[in-house]
Parts: sequence; structure tokens; C-alpha cells
Amino acid sequence: MVQALRKVCETGPETGGCKKELSRQGLKEALYKELELKIDLAVQGISFAPPDLKQFPIGTTYQEQIHILFDMDKEHHADFLLPAAFYLPHGLLVAFRWDSSSPYRLVAEGGKPVIYKYRYGKDPIRIAEVKFKNRPELLSRKTAEGEPFGHIAAFTPEGGVFVSYSNECFLKERGEDCKFCNINSTAGAYKGDNIFLKTPQQVAEVFNAAYQAGVGNQLNVTGGFIPERREIEYYGDVADEVRALTGLDDFNGTAVIGAPVDFGVIDKYKEAGYRNVALNVEIWDKNIWQAICPGKARHCGGYDNWVAALEYAAKVFGRGKVRSNIVAGLEPKQSILEGVEYLADKGVINFVGAWCPNPGSELEQHRTPETAWHVDLYHKVANIFRRNGFTLRELYDCAAANSPVHDIYRIEEEHFEGNRLKTWKFPTLRK
Ligand code: SF4
Repeated sequence: MVQALRKVCETGPETGGCKKELSRQGLKEALYKELELKIDLAVQGISFAPPDLKQFPIGTTYQEQIHILFDMDKEHHADFLLPAAFYLPHGLLVAFRWDSSSPYRLVAEGGKPVIYKYRYGKDPIRIAEVKFKNRPELLSRKTAEGEPFGHIAAFTPEGGVFVSYSNECFLKERGEDCKFCNINSTAGAYKGDNIFLKTPQQVAEVFNAAYQAGVGNQLNVTGGFIPERREIEYYGDVADEVRALTGLDDFNGTAVIGAPVDFGVIDKYKEAGYRNVALNVEIWDKNIWQAICPGKARHCGGYDNWVAALEYAAKVFGRGKVRSNIVAGLEPKQSILEGVEYLADKGVINFVGAWCPNPGSELEQHRTPETAWHVDLYHKVANIFRRNGFTLRELYDCAAANSPVHDIYRIEEEHFEGNRLKTWKFPTLRK
């Protein structure tokens, strides 16, 4: 895989990526190889020597990781910054996931970041020169109260504004948190970088600033469970504040929620002005779900209620406007695919995120399946989505990220610019 990638990427991304003239078919093949590399970098992470990383202005020119929800590195690292992400030569964006034992190593070579792969007893392979994601100007701003924007939201290159209204989850206190989740451990490790509860006014102020700057055209609101489960009141207040500040009736919002027992609550999210709703089921196999997600099982009406809530939400919001997610790697692949297929038939877009056994979770130091397992799963899920008529726009509207399934859609639809995959952008919300 990496050997082949090396052949097509002879120059770095700083001048627009690979300079070799590629046919459309050649570019597609190169991008699929890059996609395998991207997934491998998520599974195996990336290591570095501190003097190499220090050569790059992370946190000023290049965007640093922002830990408003989960730390996906192998270890917490409150005393130093890591880059948020980098571009591979043909344009795929890769989240930087630090693992000091990874065979991939980031090296500073002539002032440029380059990835090598180390193999026991052999010379390392030079994989590619990469380019760190630039730091958005918005991260230099503060709210009227003086809170840095980065304590409230993260900004995606596509125009997504990602808010975690609460960076703690009360399930932990009861020993009922999801076994793969490290939200509370992350909040504890990065106390100085975060605030526990963001007010609706803070969320609206940050979203409005991004909207006015022309770089915020979608709002994703998520967070851990708060005591009393008053999510609908909070999300309603956020929507009111956003509408008041922006003047928009439809601000392209996604509300990420736990399944309610009273389905009438789902209608209220629609009435509040959200375009999409997300209820992440996490695991499809019912028995494994109960073992891995004990708090969701206890406080959200049980597994059957969660699935029924997704089906109900698809009736209220419409096909392609409801999202779920399965943490891929905790159950057999066939079970996951059955879940994705079942939900797609009901109009729900169920993503599969490669399980990352992250620090502070109950499953810390476990292992996710091998890269080939995840690669195959992403392709099968993309096929299910396409067969069920979900569009790329719908994928971004309900998950404003660059998952490998988004990437497969962009490659198949040939969103090309020279030898690169173009960054997808949300259409502007301006009237
Ligand atoms: S509900 Fe589960 S996945 Fe969500 S924040 Fe709480 S513990 Fe984490």
C-alpha cells in the first residue's frame, strides 16, 4: 500500500501536492491509496521526536488540537500542543493521533513535515510530505466576556462549527458511562482549556462570528449527558439565541441527543429550528450494547427504544436528516452492517467511526481491529449509503466532518482540482 503511494507522490503538498500528471482514473487510484493510509494513521497513530515537532508553529500558524469532547491520542498531553490535522499530498485531511509506539513517525526534513514508516531491521520508508492544517483566524478571538473561542467551538474547513455544550457526562459518577468513552477523563486532563457548560449566548456569539465571517454555515451541538437531562430546554435556548443574532430561521443545525422516552421531545427539536438530529446508537448488537453502554440502557428507555427513536426521528425530520453512529470494532462486522442497512432503509444515516481505544476510557490499551477490517467496512457502508440514495450534502449536513465515507463519496463524484481532492464547502446560509 505505502510503497504504491510513494510512487505517485513525488513532491509535497505545499505547492498543491503531487505534481505528476494523473488521469482521472489515476487520481482516483492514488486517492484510494491515500484513504488506506489515512485509515492506517487513525488505527496506528503517529509518533514524533519533540525537537522535530517544535520546528513547526503549532498553535499560531497551524491549528492545535482542541479537546472540547474526546482526546483521541494514545495519552493525554496537557503540557504540550499537538497539531490538529494535516493534508496528504492528494488532499485528504487526516486527524493527528499521537501514539509514541506507532511505526509512523513525523520528521522535520528541510523545514517540512514528512511522514516515515519504520520497519524492524529495514530502512524506513519515506511515505509523504504533508501540510498541517492552518489555524483559523477565529481561534484568535474571544467572546465579549473574554472567553477564547477555542474553549467553546472547533471550526471545520468545510464551514462547520462544532460545539460541545457540556464536556462532562454524569453517567461517569454512576459508573454507567460508555466503556469506549473518555469525555470526563479528557475534561479533567485539559481543565485549563475548557469550560464545563457553555451558555446558549456564548454558543450563539461564536457561531454568529463564524457566520458573519462567511466561514460558519452549519452548527453541530453535542455534549455529555447533564443531570436531569434538560437537553431540550438548552438546545431550544441555543436555537433562539442563534436565530436572534444571525437573523436566520434555518441555521443548518444538528442537535446530538440521547434517545428520549417521550418521542414528542423529538418534534420539539424540529420546532426549535434544527435541520438534523443525531442519536448515536454506538453498538448494534443488543447484548453488546447493554454491556458497553449501561447508562444509555438505563436512562434512555433501553435498546429497542433507542432504535425506535431513530425511526421516529426519520419520520419527523425526513430521510437523510437523522444521523447515528456505531463505534466500529466492538462487535462483528456483520452486525454493524446489518445495523447500517436496517437504519438506512428507515432513512437514518448511520456512520461508523473506527474505534480508538483512547486514554481514560474503560477500554484504554485495548486494540481496535486491523486497518484492512476498517477499510473494508468504510467501503461497504458507503455502498449502503449510495444504494439508499443519501447525498454527499446530507452526509455533511448531519456530520460536518471528513470521515472516510465522506471521502469515498468525494472521490467517486470526482471533486477534483488538479491532482487533488477539493475541500467540500457548505453552501452559504446568507439570504
Ligand atoms: S453518553 Fe456515553 S458516549 Fe455520550 S458522553 Fe456519556 S459516556 Fe460518553
